Amino acid sequence: MKGVFDRIPWPSRDILHPMPWSPTLLRCGSFRLDAGCMFGLIPRVVWTRWFPQGVIDDANRMPLQTNSLLLESTGRLVLVEVGIGDKMSPKEHQMYAQELTPAGRPRTILDALHEINARPEDISAVICTHLHFDHAGGLTRLGTDNDPARPVLTFPNAEIISQAREWDDALAGRSTMNKTYLPNHLNPEVRERIRLVEGEREVLPGITVIPVPGHTWGQQVIKIETPRGPVVFCNDVMPTALHAPPTTNHAYDVEPYTSILERAKLFARAASEKWTLVLDHEPNHPVHRVEAEAGKPDSLHLVQAGL
Ligand SMILES: [Zn+2]
Repeated sequence: MKGVFDRIPWPSRDILHPMPWSPTLLRCGSFRLDAGCMFGLIPRVVWTRWFPQGVIDDANRMPLQTNSLLLESTGRLVLVEVGIGDKMSPKEHQMYAQELTPAGRPRTILDALHEINARPEDISAVICTHLHFDHAGGLTRLGTDNDPARPVLTFPNAEIISQAREWDDALAGRSTMNKTYLPNHLNPEVRERIRLVEGEREVLPGITVIPVPGHTWGQQVIKIETPRGPVVFCNDVMPTALHAPPTTNHAYDVEPYTSILERAKLFARAASEKWTLVLDHEPNHPVHRVEAEAGKPDSLHLVQAGL
């Protein structure tokens, strides 16, 4: 199939300075996952103390958001992450407590774009951290026949950028979880749009992808040059602000110890290169910087910030 395994060579760069992008935070819909799975080895008696009374529901699930960034530069629009989309069944809406619109359908990235008067056909590129359904499900949407097995492209004019390793693992279904790399969001139309890259590299002027493995082997963070400095959209190495402590891995990471090492590396680099971090699943305040207490270089911690 055309494009599936193309490793498209890096185009020659004809600019001297990175292009600055204006980032807008989008919320593509809240959902819930089992908190025990989200905190891996952390005992329940510990993580329950991290939540105010009543936040964890009767099914033991914690609130999460599917955050996304819309990037604009000289009229060009790029999306980082696309959320779950609209193809889940009513049973799955309940299972994940997916946020529903007043019309009773799941909130998606199209609702978030509509609210800021952006059109899906104007998006020229989509970059996903990894291809699990809660990050890439929104690549496709229900067509006019409403058949989730025959979706259409959500962003008909966009190329889709992924690490080659992530794409290969997604197609092969290499994951600790069932039903997370779903055929209906990695369908043939998506395969024709995919641009596969390997390692840390600038995929568009001023936008660099950086592998941060652990949750999956091929997941990446996305670093964006903005007028206020680098903004880095994090992947599931640190999905919420509660995942900043070193050992707070997911139960479903493919390599938990790698996650610990990569989280520490990310913290150190974020502090030294003055990155602003956007956390992919943080339901409250997803934008943070990493700082150390005065005179204590080992005391790196998150501090709320703005874009
Ligand atoms: Zn994931």
